[in-house]
Amino acid sequence: MAYSIRICRLFGIDVKAHVSLALILLILTYIFYANKPPFGFSDLQNPMRLIYSVAMAVSIFLAVLVHELSHSLVAKRFGAKVREIVLFIFGGVARIEEIPKEPKKEFAIAIAGPLASFVLSLFLFTPFRFLRLFGYFNLILAIFNLIPAFPMDGGRVLRSLLTKRFGYVKATRISVGVGKFLAIIMGIFGLFYNIWLTLIALFIYIGAVEEERAVTLEGLLANYKVRDVMTPNPICVSPDITVKDVVNMMLRRKHLGYPVVKDGKLVGIVTLKDVVNAKEDEIVERVMSRNVVVVSPETSVYEALRIMGEKKIGRLPVVEEDRVVGIISRSDIIKLAEILELFEGVKSSGENVKSVQGDTCR
Ligand SMILES: [Zn+2]
Repeated sequence: MAYSIRICRLFGIDVKAHVSLALILLILTYIFYANKPPFGFSDLQNPMRLIYSVAMAVSIFLAVLVHELSHSLVAKRFGAKVREIVLFIFGGVARIEEIPKEPKKEFAIAIAGPLASFVLSLFLFTPFRFLRLFGYFNLILAIFNLIPAFPMDGGRVLRSLLTKRFGYVKATRISVGVGKFLAIIMGIFGLFYNIWLTLIALFIYIGAVEEERAVTLEGLLANYKVRDVMTPNPICVSPDITVKDVVNMMLRRKHLGYPVVKDGKLVGIVTLKDVVNAKEDEIVERVMSRNVVVVSPETSVYEALRIMGEKKIGRLPVVEEDRVVGIISRSDIIKLAEILELFEGVKSSGENVKSVQGDTCR
């Protein structure tokens, strides 16, 4: 997430704070400072009143951190990669790559967070008012996250329970439907009673739609490998041709990016963005991007799309044994997905795409 600062590293996972956290910490501190017990410390004398208020605001994010860490550690046990935990204005998010789709594992990962929050809250229900309030927030965190709607943990729990019966994609659709329905009810209810509810409902609705889109796309592309979709034997350029030559190639061939190859090896990639502000007689080597992200022909198409999204790039050279064997672009993948969506239900697979080559026009 942009505008995040790393605050520590726990169990090999980077913990980051988004800049929005500073604002919410201030607001929370103010709320605890101004409120009467049991939800605030306005009855105390300064400096204890201020110290307690700040500590409680920070504690809320500690509770979120424990919650996200629980998801992450269970995910790690199942072999998933946890890139980072980001704390931000709405709470926290653990960026877990390739969450296992087996229902049992998804269930365990999803339930771990609310369970940890719940257990923590049990230990905190003591006579000490600070701990009791902290425990109370952990309990809310557990219950709120169990709402059966994406992007809450409850949405994942529901999907994992439905997957066995309906399959992953349909289970997602049902869970998303439940999420949207709850969000709409909550949103309307909020308009009359509490506008915060409406905001949270909006957040849930957007999360549900995003999850649906991601899973639908992933489902559509599941059978396709980069090899099936890439443009094979792409046009490569040598590092010592000029920017002018590249521009002319772009005009003629209508491709906006070319791998740069020297002695048969990939050394860079030159795209429209690299040449647009460069001098005409500059050589490609001087303007190309050197940090080239590549994929193998055996990489799944969905994974390639994910990489492009993460790195914000439009195309990836496909490399096999150090040689460029193809190029795959985001627009190619999106086109494929659009076509597949129209023919959803018609049985098609990567195998079919490979076997049908078509005839050349004469
Ligand atoms: Zn959670």
